[in-house]
Amino acid sequence: MSRSQDLFAQAQLSIPGGVNSPVRAFNGVGGTPIFIERAQGAYLFDVDGNRYIDYIGSWGPMILGHNHPEIRDAAIEAAERGLSFGTPTASEITMAEKVISMVPSIEKVRMVNSGTEATMSAIRLARGYTGRDKILKFEGCYHGHADSLLVKAGSGALTLGVPNSPGIPEDFAKHTLTVSFNNLDEVRQVFADLGEQIACIIVEPVAGNMNLILPEPGFLEGLREVCDEYGAVLIFDEVMTGFRVSRGGAQEFFNVKPDLTCLGKVIGGGMPVGAFGGKREIMDYIAPVGPVYQAGTLSGNPVAMAAGLASLSLLNSSSLYTQLEGRVSELTSGLQELADAKGIPFTTAQAGGMFGFFFTEAKKVTTYEQATQCNMEHFRTFYHEMLKRGVYLAPSAYEAGFMSLAHTETDIEETLQVAEHAFNVL
Ligand code: PMP
Repeated sequence: MSRSQDLFAQAQLSIPGGVNSPVRAFNGVGGTPIFIERAQGAYLFDVDGNRYIDYIGSWGPMILGHNHPEIRDAAIEAAERGLSFGTPTASEITMAEKVISMVPSIEKVRMVNSGTEATMSAIRLARGYTGRDKILKFEGCYHGHADSLLVKAGSGALTLGVPNSPGIPEDFAKHTLTVSFNNLDEVRQVFADLGEQIACIIVEPVAGNMNLILPEPGFLEGLREVCDEYGAVLIFDEVMTGFRVSRGGAQEFFNVKPDLTCLGKVIGGGMPVGAFGGKREIMDYIAPVGPVYQAGTLSGNPVAMAAGLASLSLLNSSSLYTQLEGRVSELTSGLQELADAKGIPFTTAQAGGMFGFFFTEAKKVTTYEQATQCNMEHFRTFYHEMLKRGVYLAPSAYEAGFMSLAHTETDIEETLQVAEHAFNVL
């Protein structure tokens, strides 16, 4: 028995399912989760002494690679001055100014502690600001686990097959309207029927919780138009895409400005941080200036701000993103060539530093239905063959992959060699 297996058995006695977040439990692929002891650059090292090339990067934050010395030192330096004060600090202003300078549509920003808090608060703000109750989201998009948003959600909720979780009163869920990602006609129809009651559209501008699905040309622009027409708030959930798809996130990449943006992951450099921001007029609707209540004892935590700021400051040129995008392309095109050579139905997708791959006959995956109809047996086998040989992918066919600037060409070559073997096994 490996040490990971031992630990998983032990963990299940004291932690529900042995994990503190469902997708870690390997439900999507079967087998025992790997317990990690430390990480450095592009690699994870497990408790049994194995090394893995990591394509999760803590699910997105580690864009500069694990344990980056400048980020680590910034956190240590801040920790030496105290872990939390519950008072305003100067670093919160630096962080706010940094975010405003990087993300095109953000004029004011509020820090929170997770992506879930960011989306939950942005939705409340949109509802309070418009005085409307209904929200519109897309099937397979995951926005954290707040009640209104766990309706037809992606990520772990999709892997576990419970997109509508028990514990959410129908009276809440009924205000969440769900339509198909990339289907502007459906959006227009819902607004034609109920537009005056809809507070906001919330969307992952690149859907990263049902594998990776890019917005079709005109889709995000169309959402912008519909929101303008009906006076609804457009929220981009950039928890995953923020500072990853490009320096200014997906809104910069696709040149569409939302009214509010939710951020997480990269913004904390690995510490538990989220944020939401947007138009000054809307943001000034939250407490203490406005009537919509939102708060957090640890929000803007000084250690988290230090790590996040160090991370964002290092992402100081668009050429880094060109480099990252190039590396991801090497991986996705390499995988495609290998699959094609073996005649395995397969396709990939990419947006900046994130990617997806599908075992499907389709040349391109643009819908939730297509994502859920892929060959799951192939995915599981491929996953375990990769893992066995030291490549750590997301343990679910519904998650995006993430690369870091620490991944070298050699890492990608090694990954492709392992993939060749994995495709052979299929
Ligand atoms: N929104 C998106 C797009 C996400 O991918 C996630 C988490 N993967 C969340 C919100 C929720 O973030 P957190 O897990 O930090 O609560």
